[in-house]
Amino acid sequence: MTAPSRNRRQEIAASRKRAQAEIVVPREVPMSRMFIDCRDYPSEKNCTVAISADTKKELVDAAVQHAVAVHGHHDSPQLRDQLATMIKTQ
Ligand SMILES: [Zn+2]
Repeated sequence: MTAPSRNRRQEIAASRKRAQAEIVVPREVPMSRMFIDCRDYPSEKNCTVAISADTKKELVDAAVQHAVAVHGHHDSPQLRDQLATMIKTQ
C-alpha cells in the first residue's frame, strides 16, 4: 500500500504556486490618457463631470454630447474647438 508521500504532494502544490506566479496579466497602459474636466469650465450647473478617453476624437465627441445634453450647447465646430482647448493629459 503506497500513499503519495507528503513530499510529493508539497512538490505539486509548490509547482502549482509557481505556475500561478508566472501568469503575467497583460495590461495596456496608455501613455497619456486625455480628459476634460467640466469643473474647469465655469457653468451655472456646477457640473463636476470628468470625461476621459485615449484619443482626442473620442474625447471631443463625448464632451460634445455632454455639453449638448447637460449644458444645452449646440454642436458646432466652435464648440469642438473650445472643448479641444480644455483637454488635459494625466
Ligand atoms: Zn458638464
